[in-house]
This record gives sequence, structure tokens and C-alpha cells, in this order.
Amino acid sequence: MDTTITITAYGPKAKKAVSAAFAEMRRVADLMNANDPASEVAYINQNAGIKPVKVSPETFELLKLSLHYSQLSVGAFDVTVRPLVELWGIGKKDNYVPSKEEIQQALKLVDYRKLVLNDQEQSVFLPVKGMGIDLGGAAKGYAADRARAVLQEYGVNSALVDAGGNIWTVGVRPDGEKWRIGIRHPRPEMGSKILAVLPAQDLTLVTSGDYERYFVKDDVRYHHIFDPRTGWPAQGVISATIVGTNGAEADILSTTVFVLGPKKGLALAAESGITKAIVVTPDLQVFTAGRDLPEMEFVNGEKEGKNQ
Ligand code: AMP
Ligand code: MG
Repeated sequence: MDTTITITAYGPKAKKAVSAAFAEMRRVADLMNANDPASEVAYINQNAGIKPVKVSPETFELLKLSLHYSQLSVGAFDVTVRPLVELWGIGKKDNYVPSKEEIQQALKLVDYRKLVLNDQEQSVFLPVKGMGIDLGGAAKGYAADRARAVLQEYGVNSALVDAGGNIWTVGVRPDGEKWRIGIRHPRPEMGSKILAVLPAQDLTLVTSGDYERYFVKDDVRYHHIFDPRTGWPAQGVISATIVGTNGAEADILSTTVFVLGPKKGLALAAESGITKAIVVTPDLQVFTAGRDLPEMEFVNGEKEGKNQ
């Protein structure tokens, strides 16, 4: 999943639990990684314009959730974004800015409204050759949910799953205190590495940032979260964090809010019943929505007074 994963667990079966949780995350990645030609998602994409593909219940469910948020955000999140991801190749091709024509061509193939999910058959169909599914904005959150579930099956009730921008806090620390989770400052070169600290118990935190995968050309930063309405990296947000209890949903929403921007994005997140959403704009303003979390500390003295 293109990231470093660390799992910390306590308890008599902690060692076995951690191995099993890693195996589980690997299993999910193998199902859902579009870059792996043997994955279910790659198989769906290979059969675009050819035939519907029957998939596992979990891939089907995550696609359903992704399609739901594609619809709710009217395509700011678009689970069929794959042609844009491939065209830009952020993190793969060096400093490649596609031409307007190339972007227009790719955009013709990005349209969640054409995705056919057949509940009865548990099948997925992309009707046009060249279309493609990309679960890069959702699968890590789902994998982290599964890691947490496996840890709990082993009786672990104190653990931390850290998968890059995706965190799961299981129970409390062995000393009985809540886990203290730092939300990364999107511009650490401005002085502080941490934007805010949240003491957390049985919560997931997911952050989408423009600093995760990007390149700079002529002083412009081109990152990996695209606005499917323009075909360019989304503007207006540099970091979006969702705090909640469902990692898959929080992951989808972090990407969605990033693309939609503070106003529309936070409204959508709040409607979705998440615990908290925190957005940072390019001028380093912080906007939040959701429940009051009095224990959350903003490191640079930012105030939580800017709720939308
Ligand atoms: P995240 O870091 O969770 O925000 O996910 C970013 C990843 O989601 C990218 O690397 C792409 O694979 C995928 N992606 C980029 N833009 C979008 C979008 N507008 N809708 C859905 N997925 C996207
Ligand atoms: Mg995401």
C-alpha cells in the first residue's frame, strides 16, 4: 500500500496477533491494489468494456461505499479516477505534467455514474474500455479496520495501528491513559511537525495530505489527490483529517473533504456522522466540524473556533 505500517500491541497473545494483523492487511492489499495485475480490482479494470466481474463480498462492499460517497459528493470523490491516476503517475513518472489534451482524454473515462454494481451477482462492470477503479483513497482505511478486528479476535485490548496517514487506537495504553495521536502539520518547514494532538481511545484518524506523494515543477506542487472535475490535483486544501469509528469511511471522507474544500467538505463530513473533521487550507487556516473534543490540543495555538 505504498507506506510503512507499524503495529504496537500489548497482551499475552500480542506477538501472534500482530503477525496475523499484518497478514490480514497484506491480504486486503492483494485484493484491492490496482497496480497489482493479480488483484480483484485489476481484474475488474482489465475487463472494462468486456464483461462484468464477480468479486469477493468485501471488495464489493467497499466499492458500494465508495460509490455512495462518489454520488454524495457528486464526483469530487470518484472511485473510477484510475485513468487520471495512471496519466499523472505521481510518485512514478518524474515531474510529468500531462498536456490539456491528455487530461481531457483521461477525464472522458472518469465517471462513477457508469459503474455498474450488481448486488445479486456481486459483480462489477465498467462499460467502457479504458475505464478503471482505484481504491487508493479507501483501501488503507479498510485494511486498518481489518487489522483492528484481527487484533481484537486475539484478545488484544491495547494496541495502535499506524499505517501512514491511517491510525487505529485500540483501547487505552498499558498505563491506562488514552493514546496520544499527533496529527501531522502539513508544512513542517514552517516550524512545527505536529498540528494537533488528540488523546484517543477506540477511534480511527485518517489524514489526506498534499505532502504524501507529490513533485514540484516550476515552483508548483503537483500531488496525488485529483479533482475529477478538472483533472488536476485538487486545490484549496493541503490536509484533511477525519476522526471516527469506521476506517474505510474515514479514509473515503478524508479524500472527499480534501477535494471538496473546507465549506462543502466539512458540511458533507458532518452529515455523515463522523466524530471530527479538521481541514487546513494553503494559507494555514484551520477549519473543523463535528463534535467538540475538549482534549484536542492545537500545538501552534490554533483555535477550534472556526467551525463551519
Ligand atoms: P488518500 O491519501 O486517502 O487521500 O488517497 C489518495 C489516493 O486516492 C490517490 O493516490 C489515488 O489513488 C486516489 N484518488 C485520488 N484522487 C481521488 C478522487 N478524487 N477520488 C477518489 N480517489 C482518488
Ligand atoms: Mg482517503
